[in-house]
Amino acid sequence: MPTRPLTSVSALTRAGLVPDADAAVLEQVASEFRIRITPAMQAAAGPGAHDPIAAQFVPDARELDTRPEELADPIGDDAHSPTPGLTHRYPDRVILHITRTCEVYCRFCFRREVVGEEGTLPERDLAAALDYIARTPAIHEVILTGGDPLVLSARRIASVMARLAAIPHLDVVRIHTRIPVVAPGRIDDAMLAALAPARLAVWVVLHSNHANELTPDACAALARLAGAGIPLLSQSVLLRGVNADPDTLADLFRALIRNRVKPYYLHHCDLARGTGHFRTTIAEGRAIMAALRGRMSGTCLPTYVLDLPGGHGKVPLTSEAAREIAPGHWRIADWRGRIHDYRDPGA
Ligand SMILES: *Cc1c(COP(=O)(O)O)cnc(C)c1O
Ligand code: SF4
Repeated sequence: MPTRPLTSVSALTRAGLVPDADAAVLEQVASEFRIRITPAMQAAAGPGAHDPIAAQFVPDARELDTRPEELADPIGDDAHSPTPGLTHRYPDRVILHITRTCEVYCRFCFRREVVGEEGTLPERDLAAALDYIARTPAIHEVILTGGDPLVLSARRIASVMARLAAIPHLDVVRIHTRIPVVAPGRIDDAMLAALAPARLAVWVVLHSNHANELTPDACAALARLAGAGIPLLSQSVLLRGVNADPDTLADLFRALIRNRVKPYYLHHCDLARGTGHFRTTIAEGRAIMAALRGRMSGTCLPTYVLDLPGGHGKVPLTSEAAREIAPGHWRIADWRGRIHDYRDPGA
């Protein structure tokens, strides 16, 4: 088993994950978007760029292709930010970007323009965010995301949890993370203790895109979380070349359910820069979901959603809210009933 993360093109060529001949162009990619592959994911990756794990983490020359629709802030995090690091789009819940660091850098990341930057949210910004939450009683749930919140030390997480628990109108803390899969060793006793504050319900939402990610170590980390009484959900991104077919997704969703993780969202791939080679059309995604329905337990099925560009929120793509009015041209109602045009790039 490898012992260190790979963070450079030269490390990738030494590890045999990319051919020497590609190094020059991949250096260009690396100057735009950070590289990091943990030992667990190196070990899980099969040979070749077409392996579904390698395809998620090994840089690709196609990331240099930017399409006109691709945006720096694809889901509009900045459009509803009352204090630095906080996004308040829906009345009852906020997203707190507690760090911008991750254990891996996914090539399709919707926040790829900001992840990997300066790291932990400064205390001044954290204090301002907590203050905003404390004086906004409509907020019941805080979603810790990043980056990946579980890169932080157990001590720091425990301290943030204690400060959140002191806000009386909060009921739930939700943690969006890839750590149980990409660095399962981090889910140790100290982390489990940090995730069990006295008063709040803590839910963990795992980001996982392929059954091969659920290694024995990852399954053990999930079992520790579930055993600690933490309900587990998952989110996956629909990715061409990784999981965009019914069989692959059926395997993933069954593996998640076996590990006591309820598939929650399947995200249509967001319009982040240099991710076009991963993106399906909406019609393809809907056809995949239609093929899964009935074939597998309803408990296995996530909701297929699009995060509308511009910060208008998530919309279930299998609902009446999304209508295809011409090939690749969608008319989509957001949660407030406002109508948005969305075009599949290239359509
Ligand atoms: C995705 C998201 C949420 C969470 O949405 P749910 O549908 O509750 O999972 C909350 N706030 C923002 C800004 C989001 O982008
Ligand atoms: S773990 Fe999440 S935030 Fe981090 S690079 Fe991957 S998709 Fe982006």
